Amino acid sequence: RGGSSPPFPTNIVYKEISIMTYKIAVLQGDGVGPEVTSESIKCLKAVSKKFNHVFDIEFGLIGGVAIDSTGNPLPKETEILCEKSDAILFGAVGGPKWDNENFNIRPEGGILAIRKKLKTFANLRPVKVFPSLINSSPIKPKYIRGVDILIVRELTGGLYFAKPKKRWNTARGKRGVDTLKYTEKEIERILDVGFKLAQQRQKKLTSVDKFNVLESSRLWREVAVKIGRDYPDVELEHILVDNMAMKLISQPKSFDVIVSENTFGDIISDEAAIISSSLGMLPSASISHLKTNNTSKSKSQLPFLYEPIHGSAPDIAGQNKANPIGSILSLAMMLNLSFGLYNESQAIERSVNKILSQGFRTSDIATNQKETISTSQMGDLISSNI
Ligand code: NAD
Repeated sequence: RGGSSPPFPTNIVYKEISIMTYKIAVLQGDGVGPEVTSESIKCLKAVSKKFNHVFDIEFGLIGGVAIDSTGNPLPKETEILCEKSDAILFGAVGGPKWDNENFNIRPEGGILAIRKKLKTFANLRPVKVFPSLINSSPIKPKYIRGVDILIVRELTGGLYFAKPKKRWNTARGKRGVDTLKYTEKEIERILDVGFKLAQQRQKKLTSVDKFNVLESSRLWREVAVKIGRDYPDVELEHILVDNMAMKLISQPKSFDVIVSENTFGDIISDEAAIISSSLGMLPSASISHLKTNNTSKSKSQLPFLYEPIHGSAPDIAGQNKANPIGSILSLAMMLNLSFGLYNESQAIERSVNKILSQGFRTSDIATNQKETISTSQMGDLISSNI
């Protein structure tokens, strides 16, 4: 080459390759929270390896462990961590150690506060039955085969949040009050989410209320009827919450999307877990809006929060017994809803399905208690099959 050529070709433009980094805050919390989220993190690492994504994970304190180290169930550092993250994976909070009368320093105050802060007013709880678990549910197979329900629970209003909320002493003994209050706007926005999701599914929306007794429910039903006029393609059905409690397990296949007040939704989704066989199976996503192509930048900056629907299960905490599938499926929801990684989310669901169909069971879903596997074994199997 005559010795005059530069050591490297000069006509090549080196393009900067931008690799998307997804920042995830992990708030493990108390009881079984750290155990189940650890298994989700194994799955996240498997997804990262298989699909070549970068997930930047940072841990934050919440709940009882946060009270122990800072005196606050939601320390400022955790709030800041959540606000700068793209999504949040949450475990569970609470336990007998922190049971006391002052609600503001109870672990549950931490999760209620972060939901409020992130404006995650809609909690999506899909209820499905994995075919291989059809005999693990106490409900007869003919009632639950093929069930596919989406519960949309209002999450930042209603009985859990409205004021007054207090306890006090009177000359005639102690008193306590909680308030069930909703504004028209709060009801409109949750119904709107319910109708939009129903449009993407079987086009049926069941609105749960207690119309015959509660004023807030009368308003709820009035607003549901009004909003329903904008969605003529969706069949709207109203049901009283007590009737819902019965129909959910006697005719679960008759439901598509169910929309409900905060407390009602909390209760009926624990009941719905029995259709799936265990509370440990159900995931959830708490969202502040439905993402569309027109979602504004400021809205899209609010991270969504993903968590199994169960609590901290103090009765089995620390025993490597908890079912991690609710948390793992919550991670799958995160990949799809927050990051648009549909194939990655499906890879997790397929792996869960495969491991269950091979007969592996944690004790909550086992029909034979002698042949159970631990939390970490279930996580190992699911993550290594992604
Ligand atoms: P829980 O959901 O913790 O447990 C109810 C039952 O389900 C228990 O028998 C438990 O062993 C079982 N269970 C729960 N998760 C399981 C899993 N992954 N695998 C196998 N079995 C599982 O409800 P609880 O006992 O009423 O409440 C315990 C604590 O959790 C309380 O302090 C409560 O306030 C708190 N809690 C927190 C949240 C949350 O953090 N989002 C939700 C509900 C309850």
